[in-house]
Amino acid sequence: MPCKKIVIPLAAAALACPVMAGQSDFERIDAHVHVLQVSPEYYRMLGALNLRVINVCVLDKYDAGFEAVAPQQATAQRAFRESKHKVAWCATFDPGDWEKHGFAREVERSLDERFRQGAVAVKIYKSIGMELKSRSGEYLMADDPAFALIYRFIARRNRTLYAHLAEPTAAWLPLDPKSPHYGYYKNNPDWHMFQHPERPKKETILAARDHVLKANPGLRMVGCHLGSMEQDVDTIAERLDRYPNFAVDTAARVADLMVQPREKVRAFLIRYQDRVLYGTDLGLGPKADVGKSIESMRTVYELDWKYFSSDEWIETRVGRVQGLALPPEALRKIFRENALRWVPGAGK
Ligand SMILES: [Zn+2]
Repeated sequence: MPCKKIVIPLAAAALACPVMAGQSDFERIDAHVHVLQVSPEYYRMLGALNLRVINVCVLDKYDAGFEAVAPQQATAQRAFRESKHKVAWCATFDPGDWEKHGFAREVERSLDERFRQGAVAVKIYKSIGMELKSRSGEYLMADDPAFALIYRFIARRNRTLYAHLAEPTAAWLPLDPKSPHYGYYKNNPDWHMFQHPERPKKETILAARDHVLKANPGLRMVGCHLGSMEQDVDTIAERLDRYPNFAVDTAARVADLMVQPREKVRAFLIRYQDRVLYGTDLGLGPKADVGKSIESMRTVYELDWKYFSSDEWIETRVGRVQGLALPPEALRKIFRENALRWVPGAGK
């Protein structure tokens, strides 16, 4: 591949070609990955791409490798150590016992331990709002009083809350082969809300999320997957204006940006360049073929970088799109500095 580098940073000066086509001239951070197996090959890929990641633990009983918290956190901790901290990690907890006496204290104790092990953030998941029901039959929401102490604890310890709440609007609509989310809902009917009309509406779930933001101004929240407002950047802008403690990541939603008008998305990303974290949702499954996974990860990283940084036309799974050609300072923030600022500790 031709070397496009102009300025060679000191640390990389020994390399003949420090920046390959499709890469940045600074260390990028992918703020949202799922690494479920330890792999020196994966760490080598991070080195080769000049990349650091935040590995997000999450409890999803329908998804292989995500069914239990403890093994994921053990793997995350190992990957953190073995990668020399290039794989930072975000802990999680099982919200299932929220009605039990002493729930919040128990979660605090466990998170305290995770923080000592190096976790820089805590994830809450869409099962809150879309699945878990109280003994009296009410759906559990993110603003349930059971979580109040936990949110305060996370803020007090200067950690960040990763909130994957609700889903793309496509979850509440019939399956549509033209949607970027068609494959997911086809294969994950449990999360296809269209098939579960008794479950809460997206607006209700996001309103509960907003309530958490309002009630906890000292809590930094990263809304995963464009804060589940992937269908229109104006909706995200409105929330970002309202809640200064809110940022979003792009994990698994770059295609949703690609299908919106280019100039509108570009203007949004320039205006909110301090509030968007680049993330992919890529990762290594527990039994994944590491070589193959790495190959497809490299493709995604290259394509995403091209989309955000250049004005080239690119073939994507949602058609041919023109890159956004964001200014260098916006790229640096979205692909690095915002992760360091919104998730303190992610760069250590
Ligand atoms: Zn994810």
